[in-house]
Amino acid sequence: MALRCWRWWPRPAWLRSRPPPAGSPLSFRQPFSTQELTPQICVVGSGPAGFYTAQHLLKHHPRAHVDIYEKQLVPFGLVRFGVAPDHPEVKNVINTFTQTARSDRCAFRGNVVVGRDVLVPELREAYHAVVLSYGAEDHQALGIPGEELPGVLSARAFVGWYNGLPENQELAPDLSCDTAVILGQGNVALDVARILLMPPEHLEKTDITEAALGVLRQSQVKTVWIVGRRGPLQVAFTIKELREMIQLPGTRPVLDPADFLGIQDRIKEAARPRRRLTELLLRTATEKPGAEGAACQALASRSWGLRFFRSPLQVLPSPDGQRAAGIRLAVTRLEGAGEATRAVTTGDTEDLPCGLVLSSIGYKSRPIDPSVPFDPTLGIIPNTEGRVVDMPGLYCSGWVKRGPTGVIATTMNDSFLTSQMLLQDLRAGLLASAPRPGYVAIEALLSSRGVRPVSFSDWEKLDAEEVSRGQGAGKPREKLVDPQAMLRLLGPCA
Ligand code: FAD
Repeated sequence: MALRCWRWWPRPAWLRSRPPPAGSPLSFRQPFSTQELTPQICVVGSGPAGFYTAQHLLKHHPRAHVDIYEKQLVPFGLVRFGVAPDHPEVKNVINTFTQTARSDRCAFRGNVVVGRDVLVPELREAYHAVVLSYGAEDHQALGIPGEELPGVLSARAFVGWYNGLPENQELAPDLSCDTAVILGQGNVALDVARILLMPPEHLEKTDITEAALGVLRQSQVKTVWIVGRRGPLQVAFTIKELREMIQLPGTRPVLDPADFLGIQDRIKEAARPRRRLTELLLRTATEKPGAEGAACQALASRSWGLRFFRSPLQVLPSPDGQRAAGIRLAVTRLEGAGEATRAVTTGDTEDLPCGLVLSSIGYKSRPIDPSVPFDPTLGIIPNTEGRVVDMPGLYCSGWVKRGPTGVIATTMNDSFLTSQMLLQDLRAGLLASAPRPGYVAIEALLSSRGVRPVSFSDWEKLDAEEVSRGQGAGKPREKLVDPQAMLRLLGPCA
């Protein structure tokens, strides 16, 4: 993924002589007076939003000090625990985050759960400003009968399992079935389908956990259906991920040409990315592969397909009622046009036998603390351009600010904007002007509560250990997944 550098161009000469109006996007560029105090700022969450917010604050304020609190022992959020192991290039952003963390005006405070080990009001008292960047850690429930049956998993937990997220290490997905159904047609759904169908030897040199690789090696899953309520024009995945699926060795795509009737005419008006994506889907559904492609497909032992116009109604139990054996889908049709297109049920249903159901219908943020407003419908902290409503000095960025959509680059732009708002408020004198203790006050609280914070140099020790454990197997790292073992490795707080 290309990350474009977000630059501010020098102000034109005619503007340089007068201050920009308060609130204008340029006003945060005004230099801070050397008389001013050192702003103590704290960021909650060390994913892309947390790190990009910190990076921007440090770059645009000469004295700001930023502490990044993180509930996991290790940094980087979904870059470590979400991004697929076969996408190592996406994880290169970690190099930039590491530079930020190594700044002598920035500190990583891992193993601290905000809302439990320390409360948001306590942080607000210790710091001039608090930025909540704690992402979206829950999954959307399907809300259908049978959802609780063994064999039904959230894609979020499955992703966490293969990526070494400690809380998902006991998941033990049963891959002894022939068919898996993934509900949802976004990039996470395609990541999960790819990992399920990819020849395990292609994952051996990645940072997937050895335990997950062992289970995938034994997998009996041969067919994966990726189900969506709407049609080919509404899929939420992107062309790169689709191409990877089409080119997946040893697999064959199964698309129904009937789903694409009349689509050629409808894509003419679509924006270029949507048009290219739909054209690729259309070609895959309707064109015969060349000789080489046909030979590969004839040898393919696994297959995947997109099932459009289907909405889940019920997970069907096995005869003994002990686990999932299929899914009942309502057949849908589309109503409305453009963005407003929605699926309505036709009254027809279809039963799809399967032993594994993975729901990939979205992530969801949780409220962090009763003192912080939260919109349960939108699943975000209500905010105006990153300023939490009616809470001066409190900000938010990333998925908890705008909802769980968008790639790392989107999160970067969004976090830079929140940082700009904070700097504007600082300059306008809207934040507390007396010195604040920052981490000194919080450290005492954490110590009294028996919390052992993990510093960035602690993480670098764990990182070195992971890299060394991976070396024998030719992997970039073998992730440590047991927090207690990690703490033992680190020893007591320095
Ligand atoms: P997160 O990355 O989730 O970071 C939030 C952090 O806050 C986490 O570290 C969490 O542990 C911490 N936290 C949570 N609660 C607390 C608390 N109470 N106290 C302290 N800390 C807390 N984008 C791409 O560009 N390319 C990809 O290939 C790609 N793949 C993806 C794959 C998956 C499965 C998913 C889900 C997303 C993917 N994305 C990808 C999107 C990208 O990961 C997000 O845009 C980005 O991570 C959002 O950043 P964030 O900081 O808001 O959230």
